[in-house]
Amino acid sequence: MDRAVCERLDRDCPLAPFRERFALPEGLLYFDGNSLGALPKSTAADIGRVVREEWGRGLVESWLDADWFFLARQTGDAIAPLIGASAGEVVCADSTSVNLFKLAASLLRHSEGRRTVVTERGNFPTDVYILEGLIDLSDGKFDLVLAEPETIVGAIDGDTALVLLSHVNFRTGAMHDMAAITAHCTAHGVPAIWDLSHSAGAVPLALNRWGVEYAVGCTYKFLNGGPGAPAYVYMAQDVIAAYEPVVTGWFSHANQFGFEDRYRSTAGIEKCLVGTPPILSLRAVMHGIACFDGVDLDDVVQKSRTLSELLIDLADERLAHAGFVLASPREPARRGSQVSFRHPEAYAVSKALRAAGVVADFRSPDILRFGIAPLYMRYVDVWDAVDALARIMASGGWMAHSTDAPEAVT
Ligand SMILES: *Cc1c(COP(=O)(O)O)cnc(C)c1O
Repeated sequence: MDRAVCERLDRDCPLAPFRERFALPEGLLYFDGNSLGALPKSTAADIGRVVREEWGRGLVESWLDADWFFLARQTGDAIAPLIGASAGEVVCADSTSVNLFKLAASLLRHSEGRRTVVTERGNFPTDVYILEGLIDLSDGKFDLVLAEPETIVGAIDGDTALVLLSHVNFRTGAMHDMAAITAHCTAHGVPAIWDLSHSAGAVPLALNRWGVEYAVGCTYKFLNGGPGAPAYVYMAQDVIAAYEPVVTGWFSHANQFGFEDRYRSTAGIEKCLVGTPPILSLRAVMHGIACFDGVDLDDVVQKSRTLSELLIDLADERLAHAGFVLASPREPARRGSQVSFRHPEAYAVSKALRAAGVVADFRSPDILRFGIAPLYMRYVDVWDAVDALARIMASGGWMAHSTDAPEAVT
């Protein structure tokens, strides 16, 4: 395999023109779109206008004149087709962590004597921490079960009050069979919340078709919403009516501007709103999602797989002898949009890669993670990154970083 093959793949790629929608620094090989997605050019061009005109000139009247009041719902409706949901089932609000709390707290109120809360060992930390906090709040009414990835289905039974799983594992990229696990939960009457943070915008998602009832996810990874962009909540149409908010803020009131003395929940997905939405950030999320306009999601999924396979093949060829062990599943259907390797010096290697203009990240304790963002990544990027990595290993360039203490953000 040589670089010319990759150049040809880029020329023939139906998604190649969409790279133009992003403002990527010249010469940088960016494999961190699953941590912070790239900046859409339209975001950079428009946010100043939003600040000057909608805020500066329109002031408070922009709540209606510029549709600010409806933006959380409009953004949710824009996200819906990317996750296989319908309009009215998604709203953009708060952080993923807070949305997990909101959903889990509400669902645990109806546990009817069931005792276990099932999640996965190695899940994204915030998911587990939020559950721990909620279980503390319940005065020991529930037991947390950290199931091994292979034994999750066996851990879900008639005693399960709630299941919370990340569709794609942030370290390894291993992807659950959401349809099968959802069917198992439904058969046992167990509510399940799916965390789509590493899924939306990169892997196949069909929440409606798979019978998924509850999900959350973030917008700053593959959806390119920007640092700290608000997350989203999904509820299937047929569970919204029974859902009772626990965090009962005024944005979910049935008659918000009636300023009533007592709380009454609204009827729709806006039940998941709490307080005043971050308008500037929501505008940026809309631009991030608009980068998918005109994009065939099947092409995105396909390109994620072919880029990942290219990376795995090149690593087999050029990196295996340098001690890199594939930590992601080889089978495309079981892998999200990332390729991870284990290496005892993963941190030093990640630092050396950054110094060489390749941004991939380190995940404790020994993972080097390459995120695959099909909208803006090229096949030559993969070739060049593996080439840079092979050189670093051959020259021992990573050793200059082998005593570096991990920074606050890796
Ligand atoms: C990135 C990520 C989050 C982020 O949570 P925040 O509250 O937005 O910081 C949550 N869950 C998973 C699985 C993630 O990958």
